[in-house]
Amino acid sequence: MTASAWTGPHRPTTDPDTEQWWAATQNRQLLINDCGSCGSASLYVRPFCPLCWSDEVALRPAGGRARLYTWTVVHQNGAPFDAQVPYIVAMVDLDEGPRLMTVIEQCPADRLRAGLPLIVDFRTDDDGFVVPVFRPE
Ligand SMILES: [Zn+2]
Repeated sequence: MTASAWTGPHRPTTDPDTEQWWAATQNRQLLINDCGSCGSASLYVRPFCPLCWSDEVALRPAGGRARLYTWTVVHQNGAPFDAQVPYIVAMVDLDEGPRLMTVIEQCPADRLRAGLPLIVDFRTDDDGFVVPVFRPE
């Protein structure tokens, strides 16, 4: 899938910095930005390290494990997301360190708690677009 296939109004806008990350996501792989200078991992994808400002960064696969940091349950939204309510928007902390905004699936809201162990999963939408989501481990 090429970036031009993602140009729907509810699909991410890619640029040269983020295109590789989204292409990997379409292949069901979660990448993180790895710093060759200080060793830190970061997200979102950018051509430098936000901790030491080195430009010696490269994408590498994340292990896919995370812990729930915070969340909210969305009960109302506009198209095209209205068909998906209610859904859980969350911030999760990857084991490698980066904090990522995502969606929690396959988990009732009353089971959510801070620190809940999670694992990445990949949801394929009706148009074939693959979205990284998390579910309880
Ligand atoms: Zn660094």
